[in-house]
Amino acid sequence: MMEKLSAEEFDLNFKAVNEKLDVALKKAGKTRDDVILLAATKTVDVDTINYAINKGINYIGENKVQELLSKQDGIIDVHHHFIGHLQTNKVKDIIDRVELIHSVDSLKLAKEISKQAVKKNKVMDILLEVNIGDEESKWGFEPNELESAIKEIAALENLRVCGIMAIPPICNEPEQNRKYFKQMQQLFIDIKNKNIDNCFMNILSMGMSDDFDIAIEEGANLVRVGTALFGKRYYIK
Ligand SMILES: *Cc1c(COP(=O)(O)O)cnc(C)c1O
Repeated sequence: MMEKLSAEEFDLNFKAVNEKLDVALKKAGKTRDDVILLAATKTVDVDTINYAINKGINYIGENKVQELLSKQDGIIDVHHHFIGHLQTNKVKDIIDRVELIHSVDSLKLAKEISKQAVKKNKVMDILLEVNIGDEESKWGFEPNELESAIKEIAALENLRVCGIMAIPPICNEPEQNRKYFKQMQQLFIDIKNKNIDNCFMNILSMGMSDDFDIAIEEGANLVRVGTALFGKRYYIK
């Protein structure tokens, strides 16, 4: 059986994350108001999530539809995001349950989100996922196809393109990802400067437990942190 994370352990983890965050913000010349800390809560139980929320976490992200559906009703009302690969047939299940979908990785998926958003009479905020490491195994748009994809997607009904997101290749040394974060920031700025209709480019979602400080130095304004907050024990490999 998996051991539960104790309150003391979470408090220590949260303190360490906040300290690392403050150092990175200072380096980047930014303040707390400039960067969202989103807790990636996959495999974390509802009580632990609520504890974290009571301690000050106000953005949470799930990466599996089924898990989101089974946990959400028990979770204190904060900002709920979807951060994982989303199958088109599951869009209808989460369309009115999350505020932002980080992981729109195909035109087909964007079209389905648009269709379901029209049905619900809501405007859905989305980010486009970029396959920044050009990995075979990863979801997302190639950097060189991003602009044309954004133009097409931003024109769909009841969708608002709010920015871009990436998960760089897994590496042993967090510094190795700096080059990918730099490329993401460049894409973010280039696309913002094109002033594409209905494309807002407000959110640059990148950086996880091991490298969120480097991501912030390179322009991230939303970081997704799981293990550093909740510990490795929750992660079943
Ligand atoms: C799990 C997850 C994270 C957090 O990863 P950690 O390394 O545990 O911080 C971030 N983004 C996505 C999409 C995830 O699924």
